[in-house]
Amino acid sequence: MKFIRFIDNEGNKPHGIITAGMIEEISGDIFGEWVQTGKTFVESDVKVIAPLEPNQVIGIGANYIADEKDRPEKPQDIPVFFFKPTSSVIGPEEEIRIPESVSEVKFESELAVVIGKEAYQINEDEVLDHIFGYTIANDITSPQYFHKDGHWTIGKSFDTFTPLGPVIETALDPTKVQVEAYLNETKKQDSSTKFMIISLTKMISYLSGIMTLKPGDVILTGSPIGAEFLRPGDKIDCRIKEIGSLFNSVVK
Ligand code: MG
Repeated sequence: MKFIRFIDNEGNKPHGIITAGMIEEISGDIFGEWVQTGKTFVESDVKVIAPLEPNQVIGIGANYIADEKDRPEKPQDIPVFFFKPTSSVIGPEEEIRIPESVSEVKFESELAVVIGKEAYQINEDEVLDHIFGYTIANDITSPQYFHKDGHWTIGKSFDTFTPLGPVIETALDPTKVQVEAYLNETKKQDSSTKFMIISLTKMISYLSGIMTLKPGDVILTGSPIGAEFLRPGDKIDCRIKEIGSLFNSVVK
């Protein structure tokens, strides 16, 4: 099932279920009790926004190999995780704004996990029970703002630096999808999620050993090889066929 969020004629921001371009509006909590309101909308008539307001956004760094032969024998004991502020989230078709102080930004197309059920100290084999669904993230990054001591937070925190969407797909095998990015319609990233170094179940089990994960938490699972720099005027389209296309343009 695909959950979408949009702005209706009165400026409300309801969720809906989308099937073949038709949205059936719902009310309630997508992670709990919800009902269909009976109202329907045509997708092309409404403004689609990020499919949720995340509770928090957590990312993992450098999590893909280009080829099986590059797989490290032993992954790092402590994976490199970072937080992105929820204020950096935008939706499909919104503009990625590069601030005056920033001369370099990269795009990073990623599969993003949406937690649906509280998770604390769960094992890997329990992880899928706590996942609500999956969306696409573009983990926009300004490497010049990476701290020389190794902290990435500032370089990933500017407003508009976390496009999410277009929908949350609840029926997906996350081990078998292709993560793609097209810069000005030229393919730059195209990798199976099987090339993750730390698997999705391992990273969520690990995180749950540190902190309670809650419904609405979004976890970005890392970006394949091929991320490049963006410039004002560029169009960047992050795609996972089963979820859709997350398209954004870039402005100064
Ligand atoms: Mg990333």
